[in-house]
Amino acid sequence: MEFEPDPASDLALPPGCEPIIDLRSDTYFMGEALRQAQRAYAADEVPIGAIITHKGRVIARAFNQVEQLKDATAHAEMLAITQAESVIGDWRLNECELFVTKEPCPMCAGAIVHVRLARIVFGCPDPKGGGAGGLFNIVQSPSLNHRCEITSNVRFDECRGLLRSFFGEKRRAVQEE
Ligand code: ZN
Repeated sequence: MEFEPDPASDLALPPGCEPIIDLRSDTYFMGEALRQAQRAYAADEVPIGAIITHKGRVIARAFNQVEQLKDATAHAEMLAITQAESVIGDWRLNECELFVTKEPCPMCAGAIVHVRLARIVFGCPDPKGGGAGGLFNIVQSPSLNHRCEITSNVRFDECRGLLRSFFGEKRRAVQEE
């Protein structure tokens, strides 16, 4: 049988030569969100990154920019949602999935319900302040008009590790002052 590359992927490999990572997996897409979180870290922002996919394709990428934009609403999820709406040409993102390194806060969880995202995937849960099952579960509230699926703890150690080292550095800087 002749090897025919998968037209959906320019990285298709011949039979018997399995790719190391599945380019459609949650693990892979969380890697893209982690790359955004690293950009936030490099910009001295709390390292949280988010991407949005539509039918297995990344359509939005963003990282937390609260300090840079001097805007408390400039969370990675909010910026990614705005980008995705403009790509889709609609405020309804019901065929989209959001990947974010940390559980969305209540503000972002509210936006996720408003745009009707199909599913959210996050790395590190936030039991103290999360809006997707941590403190509140806004994205699955029976009284709101939309509920989305949740997948959590994807690449947990890497997502949490970035936040820990960021805040660890900040604490050390304060002690050295
Ligand atoms: Zn948020």
